[in-house]
Amino acid sequence: MNDFETRLNLVKTRISNTALQCKRDPASIQLVCVSKTHPVESLSSFYDLGERHFGENKVQEMVDKWTAFPKDDLVWHMIGTIQTNKIKFLAERVNWIHSISKVKYLEELEKRLKIVNRQVNVLIQVNISDEDQKSGCEAQDLSDFFAFAKTCSHITVRGLMGIGSLENDAELNRPQFKELADLLAFHRNKWDSPQIQLTELSMGMTHDLEVAIQEGATMIRIGTALFGNRTYEI
Ligand SMILES: *Cc1c(COP(=O)(O)O)cnc(C)c1O
Repeated sequence: MNDFETRLNLVKTRISNTALQCKRDPASIQLVCVSKTHPVESLSSFYDLGERHFGENKVQEMVDKWTAFPKDDLVWHMIGTIQTNKIKFLAERVNWIHSISKVKYLEELEKRLKIVNRQVNVLIQVNISDEDQKSGCEAQDLSDFFAFAKTCSHITVRGLMGIGSLENDAELNRPQFKELADLLAFHRNKWDSPQIQLTELSMGMTHDLEVAIQEGATMIRIGTALFGNRTYEI
């Protein structure tokens, strides 16, 4: 077994052990391999082991890696800060955007998706941790996103995303993850539209995936535990 296989097995064991402990089906939790800063060869190693979902946080880096793989085979997740002028590059390639934090990004995305005639799943990022005030919308603004999504034809809002605080003690993030799960439950049946299918909770990273799964995560975003340490942080 090579390092990639060992690390992947370890992560899959963490996911399935936790899921089974809380009587959830491990298959109901999607692993997103967060490949930011790592070379195409590392993605290929996980691709060869059967992984298809990859997450990047910079548009240019995602575009470069996208060109290295067969079209429509990988599922690309944008998890980083969005800029309006980069949305057109995303619209042509990405499958999921986890980090929508302003309604104006949805407007631009819908416009660009119409042009290229593609469908994209989005999650609205909510600011759940006190230490990072800048990322994500406020919970009380969520209705504005759903109201706009109802008017869309190329965007489906699939759920919410949150980043827990980066402290080592994952237990500290439990109330934050609970808050996100409660918000999803609150909005889940309020919006009757094919463009709003609120089933997904993207939360949990290398240090807190167990707590996230216990609190209902359906997508976990794992970088370090799979790829090793990043040589630079972005
Ligand atoms: C980098 C990153 C991750 C992965 O974090 P690890 O701790 O390396 O698993 C998850 N989510 C977001 C938004 C990230 O930027």
